[in-house]
Amino acid sequence: MKEKVVEYPAVWIAGASCSGCSVSLLNTVTPDIQNVLLDPIMPGKHVSLRFHATIMAGSGEPVVKVLRDTGKELPGKFILLVEGSVPTGEDGLFCTLGELDGEEVTMKDMVKELASKAMAVISIGSCSSFGGIPSGAPNPTGAKSVRDFLKEEKIDKPLINVPGCPPHPDWITSTIATVLLNGLPGENDLDEKLRLKSIYGTLIHDNCPRRGFFDAGRFAKKFGDEGCLYELGCKGPYTYADCPLRHWNNGTNWCIGAGAQCIGCVEPDFHDIYAPMFEKIKESAFDNFFINTKSLKYK
Ligand code: SF4
Ligand code: SF4
Repeated sequence: MKEKVVEYPAVWIAGASCSGCSVSLLNTVTPDIQNVLLDPIMPGKHVSLRFHATIMAGSGEPVVKVLRDTGKELPGKFILLVEGSVPTGEDGLFCTLGELDGEEVTMKDMVKELASKAMAVISIGSCSSFGGIPSGAPNPTGAKSVRDFLKEEKIDKPLINVPGCPPHPDWITSTIATVLLNGLPGENDLDEKLRLKSIYGTLIHDNCPRRGFFDAGRFAKKFGDEGCLYELGCKGPYTYADCPLRHWNNGTNWCIGAGAQCIGCVEPDFHDIYAPMFEKIKESAFDNFFINTKSLKYK
């Protein structure tokens, strides 16, 4: 007997972003992108992706109309996936998604329209989750995270953040799968930054193979040296993600494993406070904790 498959409608819109999150999703290995798009992501459950500017074949007004119709026809039944931050300056004109009836449709207005009607919103990537690089000082476009934008617009909607620059493809697919399998995550499943604890629950520094060097006070002076990369700009002591355990590119390696520092790409402070990437973090930038070379200490 053929298995009954339930369709879960979803739309993916992209604002102020580089499309790297979409590229990361396209690189998913288990399941591969063909499976994600065509097959049930969970037994009996298929995500019906109705709009994705990079993947879909259509263009022009008809596809923008699909966005609007999704909100109208499926209130409370679709998932809104947002990549990129929401530019709010100049009434949103820094970022438009297309035109309808000769009028520009801004990212700002479409996020507002769809978020108010969606079952839940998932912010894909650090720009959508926290503002990211587009919101870096002096932020001329008024770019905001989805969370801040919805708060400002007084739209109260279940929201999950999947930060990363870009997020690991597994983080995107497993977050969607978690929602389909268990429903919306409860308070205890998310951290205060609205990230799934199952992905973002451990400190990079605590699982780093170079941690012994840090504890012994042995620091690399240049890339390629043996030793901890903290003085070369590693933000692992401030960054929560499972990269040391999961690895990237189908388990091949990860940033520190390849000899580079962790730039803290999943954290809200990634773009402003964590820069420059190749310099030791300015510890004075933090008022809630400080670090010494022996161990992390929290005030
Ligand atoms: S500072 Fe970076 S390289 Fe050093 S132990 Fe921590 S995570 Fe690893
Ligand atoms: S190791 Fe750090 S910089 Fe690299 S992907 Fe993970 S969180 Fe981002």
